[in-house]
Amino acid sequence: MGGERTLLVLAQRDPEIERPGADDLYSIGTEAVVGRMLKMPDGSTSALVQGQRRVRVVGFEADEPYLRLSVVPIEDMPCEGEEADALIRAVHGMYEKVVKLSRSIPDDHYVAAINIDQAGWLADFVVSDLELSVSERQEILETLDPLERLHKSSMFLARELDVLELQNKIHIQVQTEVDKNQREYFLREQLKAIQRELGEADAQGREVIKLREKLEAAGLPEDVREKADEELERLSIMPAMSPEVGMVRSYLEWLAGLPWSVSTTDQLDIDRAAKILDQHHYGLQRVKERILEFMAVRKLAADKMRSPVLCFVGPPGVGKTSLGKAIAEAIGRKFVRVSLGGVRDEAEIRGHRRTYIGALPGRVLQTMRTAGTINPVFMLDEIDKLGSDFRGDPSSALLEVLDPEQNAAFSDHYLDVPYNLSKVMFVTTANILDPVPPALRDRMEVIELPGYVEDEKYEIAKRFLVPRQTREHGLNGMLLRFNEDALRRMIREYTHEAGVRNLERQIATVCRKVARKVATGETKRTTVNVKTLEELLGPPRFSRNLAEEHDETGIATGVAWTAAGGDVMTVEVSLLEGKGQLVTTGQLGDVMKESAQAALSYARVRAADLGLAPRFYETMDVHIHVPEGAVPKDGPSAGVTMAAAMISALTRRASHREVAMTGEITLRGRVLPVGGIREKVVAAHRAGIKTFVLPRQNMKDLEEVPEDARRELTFVPVDRMDEVLKVALHAPATELRAV
Ligand code: ADP
Repeated sequence: MGGERTLLVLAQRDPEIERPGADDLYSIGTEAVVGRMLKMPDGSTSALVQGQRRVRVVGFEADEPYLRLSVVPIEDMPCEGEEADALIRAVHGMYEKVVKLSRSIPDDHYVAAINIDQAGWLADFVVSDLELSVSERQEILETLDPLERLHKSSMFLARELDVLELQNKIHIQVQTEVDKNQREYFLREQLKAIQRELGEADAQGREVIKLREKLEAAGLPEDVREKADEELERLSIMPAMSPEVGMVRSYLEWLAGLPWSVSTTDQLDIDRAAKILDQHHYGLQRVKERILEFMAVRKLAADKMRSPVLCFVGPPGVGKTSLGKAIAEAIGRKFVRVSLGGVRDEAEIRGHRRTYIGALPGRVLQTMRTAGTINPVFMLDEIDKLGSDFRGDPSSALLEVLDPEQNAAFSDHYLDVPYNLSKVMFVTTANILDPVPPALRDRMEVIELPGYVEDEKYEIAKRFLVPRQTREHGLNGMLLRFNEDALRRMIREYTHEAGVRNLERQIATVCRKVARKVATGETKRTTVNVKTLEELLGPPRFSRNLAEEHDETGIATGVAWTAAGGDVMTVEVSLLEGKGQLVTTGQLGDVMKESAQAALSYARVRAADLGLAPRFYETMDVHIHVPEGAVPKDGPSAGVTMAAAMISALTRRASHREVAMTGEITLRGRVLPVGGIREKVVAAHRAGIKTFVLPRQNMKDLEEVPEDARRELTFVPVDRMDEVLKVALHAPATELRAV
C-alpha cells in the first residue's frame, strides 16, 4: 500500500507446498493493483486486488525478503470479425441466464458484461464469476488468443448453466414438497386452535369418552367387553391423523351398535296371536295352526326349547313375507329380513376381516343391528337363490347361523368375537325346495304355501287388498268400490299367477286412475264393474280360452310345476324325414330329455298295438318342441304328455284340447306319480281344462285341491299309458287333420 501498489500474482502448481520457489509457480500470471486493505474482525488483513494485464515470467531476481521475478507484459491481441461478434452475443445470452439462476453472482455483473465488447476481456470477466478449479483458471489465463479464450469460457459457462438448471429443478421440487408439508402442518395447527376456541378441545379424547359410554350402555358380555377395552385403549393413544383411527372407531361403533342384551318379552297369548294372524291373512289354516302350536309349546317349555327354523315354501306373492311379519307381531317381537338372492360370497354372510379396507360385518349382523334386540323374528328370504363359487360357500355359513348347536357363538370375520344368535327366531323362505342344500333343509321345518285358487284370491282381494290399496291412495270405501264380477275378471283375465302380487298391483293401478279422476273433479264416486275395468286397465291380458282352437294331431297339453306355481304347457311333435333321430327343443333339461327318449322307446315297443309300421322310426326323425322356447324346463312329469303328442303325430289321431295330463312314463308304459298336483290342477282349472289325467297314486293329493277346481274338473286316474291315450286322443277312425 505504501509503494507502487503493483503486485505480481502467480498461481502455485501444487497448493500443498508451504514456501514455493520460482519453479513451483506457473509462468504466466497477472499484474494486479492493490485497491484497498481491510482489517478483519479476527485481526487479520485482507487486500482487494484488481487484475490489470497478463504477464510472462522471464527471469528470477531474488527470494528474500520476498520472491521477486522479472516479467514482460502480454498485450491482448486484437480480435474482430463476425465470428467474434457471434461468440460475444452467445456468451452474453448464456451469462444472463447464469446470473439469473445463480444466487452468488450479483445482478449488476450482467450489466457490466454486456458493456464489454472485447472478446478477450469478456472471457476473463465471465470466467472470474464461475466456480472453476485452479488449473482451469490457469488454462484460461494461458490462452492468449482472445477468440479461443472466449470459446473456452463459453464452454465453462455452458457447463455452469447445466449445473445451475439442475440445481434449480431439484430446489423447486424440494421446495414444493416442503411447502406442502408446512402448509398442512400449519392448517392443522390452526384447526386445533379453532377447535380449542370453540371448546372442542381434543376431539379424539372426547370421542373415546363417548364411545366408552356407548359401550358401557350396550351391556357387552365379559369377553367382548375386554376386547372393546383393548381397542379403546389403542384408540386413545393413537395419533389423531393415523389412518387406523377410522378403522378402530368404526369397529367400536359396531360393537356398541349391536344388540347384546336388549330383548323383547314374548307375548304368548294364543288367542290374541290367532286374532292377529287372521287379521293379516285370509285362509292359510294349516300354516296358522302350525304357528300357534309353536307358540303353545314355547309357552309351556319356556326357554328350554330351541326355536325351530320355519321355512315357507311357495311361489311369489302367496304371503310368505307378510306371514313372517304377522308372526313377529303376534309374538311381540321385532321383525327383520334379509334377502339371500344372488349371495355367492361367504363374506356377505360372515363379513370381511378387519384388515380389508372398508370391511364390514356380514349381512346377518348388519341385520341384527337394525333389529336392535337379541330375539327378533329374522327372515332369510330366497334361500333357494343362494349361489356358491370360488369365494366360499355361503350355505355353510348359513348352516352355522341356523344350527342351534352352533349359533350361540356365531363368528363373524369382522367382529372377531362370538355373537349369540340363539335367541333369534329364524324364518326362511324359498320358491322351490330343490336347490336348497340337503344339510340346510334338514335344519328347517318346511311349511308349504301352494298358491291360491280364484275363490281364495277373490276373498283376499275383497278383504285385504282392496281396503289397503284404497286407503293408501286416499280413497275411502265411499269413493271407490269394486263389484264382485270386476274383481273376478281381474283375477281371471288381468293376472296369471299363483300368488296375489300382480292382482294387488292391478288394484293399485285402478286406484291411481280413480284417484286422479277424483282429484281433478271428473268423478265423485266410482264403482268398478266388468265394463269400466277395461277402460281403466285396457284390454285383458290373459284369456281363459284354451290355447288351441281345434283338436289337432301332434299336440298334447301337459301341466308343469314352476317356481311361480303351475302352468299349462303344450307339447308339439313333428315327424320329419330322417333316420330315427330324436330332436328336442325348448330348453329341456336332462331329465326331461330322457323322458322324451323313454316316450319314443315306448312308442317303438308298442308299435304293433298302436297300428304303426314295425320299423316306422327308420325313415323319420321325431322333433319334440315345448314352448315357451326361452324358458328352461325340467323334470320327469311331462313324460306322458310327450308320449301322447308323439303317438298323436304317429297315428294321426287328433288330441282333445280340453284334456290335460301329468305323469312320468316308463319304457313299458307304466305311469308313475309326480309332485305338485295341487298347483297343476289349479293351473289347469285356470286355463279352462275340463279333464285332468293323473297317475292313480296321485289321487290322494286331490284332497288338497280347492273345492271349485275339484267340482269343475273331471279327474281320470291312470296306471298305464294306454289309458292316457284313450282319454287324450280321438278314436283311431276320426282322423281330423293330417300332420
Ligand atoms: P311372498 O313373500 O310370498 O312373495 P308377500 O308376503 O310379499 O308374498 O305377499 C304379497 C302380498 O299379498 C302382500 O301384500 C300380502 O299382504 C298379500 N297376501 C298374500 N297372501 C295373503 C293372504 N292369505 N291374505 C291376505 N293378504 C295376502
